[in-house]
Amino acid sequence: MGRWIEAADGVLVRRYQELDLSVGLVVGGESCLIVDTGGDAGQGAELAAAVREVTPLPWQVVLTHSHFDHSFGTEAFAPCAVWAHRRCRADLVANGEQQREKWARHYRELGDAKVADRIAAVRLVLPDYLVDDYAQLDLGGRRVDLRHFGPAHSDHDLVVHVPEAGAVFAGDLVEEGAPPQFGDAFPQDWPSALDRILALDAPIVLPGHGDPVDRHFVRGQRAELVLVAELCREVAAGTLTAEQAVARSPYPEELTLAALAR
Ligand SMILES: [Zn+2]
Repeated sequence: MGRWIEAADGVLVRRYQELDLSVGLVVGGESCLIVDTGGDAGQGAELAAAVREVTPLPWQVVLTHSHFDHSFGTEAFAPCAVWAHRRCRADLVANGEQQREKWARHYRELGDAKVADRIAAVRLVLPDYLVDDYAQLDLGGRRVDLRHFGPAHSDHDLVVHVPEAGAVFAGDLVEEGAPPQFGDAFPQDWPSALDRILALDAPIVLPGHGDPVDRHFVRGQRAELVLVAELCREVAAGTLTAEQAVARSPYPEELTLAALAR
């Protein structure tokens, strides 16, 4: 079960204990937009029912990126327009099945057969409204901008900006309560994506995991990511070994050797 936080007028975040996940809802005059759908059909269905307690308006979905916890609940909303970056769709086509098996196995090994079964049963819904760098949605008197700021947490992160509410959903470009995740990341490019988020000048930043934050928090995370980028450059230049870089990282547990090679 999740709980809603109203971050701004008609801009809501639903918080979950599982993975400390945060998904979003933007309510316009004629339609609403769901930002990420949770990690399986059960989570998606819970979210869909919770949205219906807020608004009866028709919905669209936007996926911030392809990671299972953000994209695997989409079938609960189908049929509807599903927006994502072009490479998000490509990644779900190429790696969706593999991701499903990996995470089902992960939860089974943790002894959580219920979640494992739910993930194993997911029917992947592919995004059909594809974004390269920018798309603008009109929810009826409410504009929403979808923007891609280059590779960072993945090679296809979308941020969802609601200009008149001063709010931006950052996906996993920003994490509160846990370190950023580098599994599919491009550490050297990440700080400049955060610069682009900061340049939106939105006082409310909504991370893909954790509680809403402000620009000050994003600047702090950016400073740590600059350090990580510097370590990656030193590894590439041969002045540090990968092991030394991991040890000096502000996120030694998360900065993987694979990410350092990118
Ligand atoms: Zn992610």
